[in-house]
Amino acid sequence: MIPMNMVTPPPELAAITALQSKLVEALRPILPEYALLWEPEDTIPYECDGLAAYRRMPLAVALPETEAQVSQILKVCFAMQIPVVPRGAGTGLSGGAMPISQGLVLSLAKLKKIIKIDPFTRTAVVQPGVRNLAISEAVAHLGLYYAPDPSSQIACSIGGNVNENSGGVHCLKYGLTLHNVLRVRGILMNGEIVEFGSHAPDSPGLDLLAVVIGSEGMLAVVTEVTVKLVAKPKLARVIMASFDNIEKGGDAVAAIIAAGIIPAGLEMMDKATTRAVEEFVHAGYDLEAEVILLCESDGTPEEVEEEIERMTRVLENAGASGIRISQDESERLKFWSGRKNAFPAAGRLAADYYCMDGTIPRRHIATLLRRIQAMEKKYGLACLNVFHAGDGNMHPLILFNGADQEEWHRAEDFGTEILEACVELDGTITGEHGVGIEKINTMCVQFGEGERESFWGVKSAFDPERLMNPNKAIPTLSRCAEYGRMRISGGKLPHPELERF
Ligand SMILES: Cc1cc2nc3c(=O)[nH]c(=O)nc-3n(C[C@H](O)[C@H](O)[C@H](O)COP(=O)(O)OP(=O)(O)OC[C@H]3O[C@@H](n4cnc5c(N)ncnc54)[C@H](O)[C@@H]3O)c2cc1C
Repeated sequence: MIPMNMVTPPPELAAITALQSKLVEALRPILPEYALLWEPEDTIPYECDGLAAYRRMPLAVALPETEAQVSQILKVCFAMQIPVVPRGAGTGLSGGAMPISQGLVLSLAKLKKIIKIDPFTRTAVVQPGVRNLAISEAVAHLGLYYAPDPSSQIACSIGGNVNENSGGVHCLKYGLTLHNVLRVRGILMNGEIVEFGSHAPDSPGLDLLAVVIGSEGMLAVVTEVTVKLVAKPKLARVIMASFDNIEKGGDAVAAIIAAGIIPAGLEMMDKATTRAVEEFVHAGYDLEAEVILLCESDGTPEEVEEEIERMTRVLENAGASGIRISQDESERLKFWSGRKNAFPAAGRLAADYYCMDGTIPRRHIATLLRRIQAMEKKYGLACLNVFHAGDGNMHPLILFNGADQEEWHRAEDFGTEILEACVELDGTITGEHGVGIEKINTMCVQFGEGERESFWGVKSAFDPERLMNPNKAIPTLSRCAEYGRMRISGGKLPHPELERF
């Protein structure tokens, strides 16, 4: 009999609690007590990733320490048909590691061993929870480093990098995660171990490595990664060029690449960003410039001297109003410090900021920046622009106050309009942050039904029951129909044959 003062929980809540107890009981024999969390005060740190606007509590969180435990956990969840959300360091910006309310969060953070460093083949074998920067730190004494350098590299894990195909400042010259990983080992939802790629530059049979890299935790849980290491350049210098107009700055980016130069880094900041960061980094940015370009050259001293000279000429011809070249390492770091601190600087200007991530062909940079200026007026929200100009990968930071729901929705709409503009300009809705839940609707704008069906085909080949990180990255037909209903364009309703809901 229920005591008079106790409230009976609603049936859905009772069902979730019962499922949670069953799951915890089933996982207990696999994990030590401290590695299994289910009380809300323990699981709340896992309710979101770096996209904190979207949150949900999971049924439970498992923190395995070995690959064997990962496999056993997956087998249990597969048998119970419980969805699993893999998670690295949780720095993702598209909600890829956001929990599912009736699912398990599988954190790989405790798998953090560097298994092998081989200076002869210039490779390292690491577990997925190893931080990006930790790889470079571990091989620095050999004069080597791991090239892809997301701005979050101090915290983000290599497992997350593999699943997001992460990039960074140096990826223009040295390639993305995809180009710097040789082999990935993982576990399918049914607990089976799989390997993609090999320790050699090529592998026999159908090479599925590129399918797994960037798969956003939807195909397999990554448990081991073989990365390439590259030699640290002898010297690096950076040019800081100012432009009094956005178009000239945008054209300069295209001109550098057109001249056959691939800088080690080619990044742009607009006036709002330089003003926001200068206040605390004191890098000596030209505060009157509409945009500033940072162009880095690295290599031997002779190579750097020659490339800096060529880039200077191109920038002058493109109409730079000012050019400064770093004279020593501390000045080079100073020039970069504003770029590296742009996100925290946005945090000083507003309670919250929403970091978008879309890519456009380099020649359209100025067009998109002008459109964003018009959107600032339309939505009544300010936006800082700081981005990987060489890749055409834009990161508008929309400033808003998250305590005000209406303002957040305006920020969301602002972001969606930027992504739609990227597609219109022959670009893509994502650059390096993945689709996750954030861009799942705009996937409907970018891809047609046939393309989405083929994505589902790949997903089903790995995970036929759709239990691994479901409802992320690939939209269903009904979701796209509903999104189309909300955003009718040119009076035409997409998928008119479908029942509306
Ligand atoms: C301040 C800041 C700056 C950033 N700068 C950059 C940048 O310059 N470039 C860039 O590309 N990104 C950047 N990011 C985004 C983010 O850091 C990257 O996407 C990073 O790769 C995420 O790694 P993570 O370990 O935090 O993964 P998480 O956020 O934990 O997960 C990301 C995705 O990978 C999946 N996943 C994680 N680990 C595994 C695994 N072992 N097996 C299977 N699936 C897994 C998750 O399910 C999720 O879908 C930035 C983020 C922040 C907060």
